[in-house]
Amino acid sequence: DALERPSRTDGLTELPNRRHLMETIEKEIRRAKRNRRPFTLLMIDVDHFKQFNDAFGHLAGDDVLKRLAGVLLGAIRTADYAGRFGGEEFTVLLPETPLDGAAEAAERIRSRMAEESFGDGRPRVTLSLGMGECPTDGDSVDTIIECADAALYRAKETGRNRVVTTKQ
Ligand code: GH3
Ligand code: MG
Ligand code: MG
Repeated sequence: DALERPSRTDGLTELPNRRHLMETIEKEIRRAKRNRRPFTLLMIDVDHFKQFNDAFGHLAGDDVLKRLAGVLLGAIRTADYAGRFGGEEFTVLLPETPLDGAAEAAERIRSRMAEESFGDGRPRVTLSLGMGECPTDGDSVDTIIECADAALYRAKETGRNRVVTTKQ
């Protein structure tokens, strides 16, 4: 475990990294098919993060990402799995959870992050979230991520700071 840790963990947030995330999604797809129990994948992206970095510096931006990791872990159940997909994009996998149940967790993440304060004169930081359900919306790692990503794109397009499902 000590040897594997750096290759599976993101150094900044200490969440599982993209590689670990992809392996976990792969396993969960097999499990969902076997048990016929759908799971939901959330793709999460920080809104206007470039502006935050430009205004307050990269280190302040890093603090936002660390804080977001804490918000994710605080908002999900122990069976759920949060990881850093890359940059300012994060993923949460909710095993055995269909879209409607996952929407509650997504909304909790969205609202808790929007309440976080980053100090005097600093703006709140909001998130856009897209959801995809497996196997309904996709039954491979690529298709399920694409689907959640398309929903995330619509969350951005329709005003940010919101959760969008594939069906909306
Ligand atoms: P949008 O609302 O459309 O998502 O706008 P955005 O500014 O968040 O999107 P964009 O993709 O243009 O910018 C993402 C920014 O995230 C740019 C990049 O420098 C920053 N970023 C990515 N990884 C890190 C990191 O590890 N630390 C910090 N501080 N910034 C990061
Ligand atoms: Mg992005
Ligand atoms: Mg962004």
